[in-house]
Amino acid sequence: MNDKKQISESIERIKAEIDGRARLLAATKTVPPELMNFAIGCGIDLIGENRVNELLEKYEHINRNKTEIHFIGALQTNKVKYIIDKVDMIQSVDRESLALEIERQAAKHGIVMPILAEINIGNEATKSGIEPEKASEFCRFLGSLPHVSLRGLMAIPPKCDENRNNCEYFCKMQKIFVDISHQNVDNSIMDILSLGMSDDYLSAVECGSNLVRVGSAIFGKRNYNL
Ligand SMILES: *Cc1c(COP(=O)(O)O)cnc(C)c1O
Repeated sequence: MNDKKQISESIERIKAEIDGRARLLAATKTVPPELMNFAIGCGIDLIGENRVNELLEKYEHINRNKTEIHFIGALQTNKVKYIIDKVDMIQSVDRESLALEIERQAAKHGIVMPILAEINIGNEATKSGIEPEKASEFCRFLGSLPHVSLRGLMAIPPKCDENRNNCEYFCKMQKIFVDISHQNVDNSIMDILSLGMSDDYLSAVECGSNLVRVGSAIFGKRNYNL
C-alpha cells in the first residue's frame, strides 16, 4: 500500500485529471481507517466499501463528518439491515429481491435510500448486474418502491486489453442512461452514472461518467491477506 505522500499526490493528480467533470469516490476495501482518514484529510469526501463486515469493523473509526459512504459491492439480502442506517447510497442494486429488502429496511427506519441500478454491461455470466436489455424494466420496478430513490446506473465493464478500449462499454452505458433518464421513471432522479476505476477512469469520464470509483490508483496495490 502507498505511503501518505503518494496517497496525497495521487488524489491531487487524479482530481486535476478529472477536472471537475466527475465526482471522485475512493474505493477503500482493505484500506485501514487511518489511511482512509488521511485521504479524507486530502479532500476525499466520498468513500466506497465493498464488504459489509469490513464496513462495520471500520465504521466507528472513519471520520464521517463530511464524508459520504456508498456501498459498492455484492450485497447479500440478509445483510441489508446492517448497513441501511450507515450508508448514503447503495450503488450495487442488481436484483429485485435485494431492492425489495432495501425497501423494507428503509421503510422500517423511516428513510428513503438512494440507489443505483447495477448493469452487467458486458453480459458476462460471472458478473452480477441486470442485463442491459432488462435495464429499463428493472428501473421501472425500482421506481415503484417508495423508500428507494433511483439516482442512476453503475457498471463494472469487462477487463479489456489495451487495443480494445472500454469506451465501447462506457458508451453503451451512457446510451442506456440517457434512454432511461428520458423515460421519467417514478421516484427517480437520474443524475449519476458511476463508471470507471483505476485503469480507465479518464476514458469513463470522456464517455459521460460523472462518478468514478478509484482504489489502487490512490492507495496502491491491495493486500488481501491483512
Ligand atoms: C475495488 C473496486 C473499485 C476500485 O478498483 P481499482 O481498480 O482499485 O480502482 C471500483 N469499483 C468497485 C465496485 C470495486 O469493487
